[in-house]
Amino acid sequence: MTAQIIDGNALSKLLRTEVAARAQALKSKGVTPGLAVVLVGDNPASQVYVRNKVKACEDSGLYSVLEKYEGSMTEADLLARVEALNHDPAIHGILVQMPLPSHINAQKVIEAISPAKDVDGFHIASAGALMTGMPGFWPCTPYGCMKMLESIGYDLKGKHAVVIGRSNIVGKPMALMLLQKDATVTVCHSHTQDLKAITLQADVIVAAVGKRNVLTADMVKPGAVVLDVGMNRNEEGKLCGDVDFEGVKQVASHITPVPGGVGPMTITMLLVNTLEAAERASN
Ligand code: NAP
Repeated sequence: MTAQIIDGNALSKLLRTEVAARAQALKSKGVTPGLAVVLVGDNPASQVYVRNKVKACEDSGLYSVLEKYEGSMTEADLLARVEALNHDPAIHGILVQMPLPSHINAQKVIEAISPAKDVDGFHIASAGALMTGMPGFWPCTPYGCMKMLESIGYDLKGKHAVVIGRSNIVGKPMALMLLQKDATVTVCHSHTQDLKAITLQADVIVAAVGKRNVLTADMVKPGAVVLDVGMNRNEEGKLCGDVDFEGVKQVASHITPVPGGVGPMTITMLLVNTLEAAERASN
């Protein structure tokens, strides 16, 4: 069997066309969805991420503003900026790029963002909403994974989904989203014993670890769906995921590549969340 590739670029293009149309409809009512991206310091990877996010907004007809600050910015000043953005009517979504310099308490900054503008879905209120099935913003990466499963018409009901990784931004929310769709969910982490015995039982595997080859072909049940969230570099410095793509694609029914899989979906879901924040604010 050779797996079908779930193409994150193609799906993103489709979803971004829908975002652009909905943004246009809002604009005709006098509301332009707006995202503020706040970057503190000069982390090179973060600079690329924020540029991509701002460009994606522009391409889909969303207003975006990039606020860049020196790494020496104080926590109090950053909190004051977030508070100002909370009250800015042109801004519907606020994203503070992580990681923040070590002298700033990142959780405190996240909690300062108004839950109504928490388009990253990291606020404790957003986490609580996801946990209880209430309306709120879902973290973009696992939300993108759910859209990928939806795009192949996958019915999660009664299926065994295994999530490898339990971070607050990917693994845990991923598990809750899968549970909400009636999957039986197992969450694995660095203390999990015999990972292979668990993944071999899975109908769906989401790898979100940040280590190459965490999932190899011998760990995958034939026909399973494999989503690779990981972003790593191989010996040649090329971007790769957590999954041994070449091996696993011979066993799985569907697989996401890296690059061109979950990555573009993450930014797309940020646009979707921003649009939704604007729609909610305008109702
Ligand atoms: P993280 O906070 O470092 O979490 C990694 C998780 O993997 C932890 O829960 C850890 O377990 C677990 N783990 C580590 N080694 C393991 C092993 N050998 N077996 C099983 N579990 C293991 O990372 P993250 O923020 O969730 O990100 C995970 C990966 O996704 C990274 O490569 C990141 O760059 C990537 N990512 C990609 C996107 C995207 O848009 N494509 C977005 C976000 C993240 P413990 O909890 O026990 O330590």
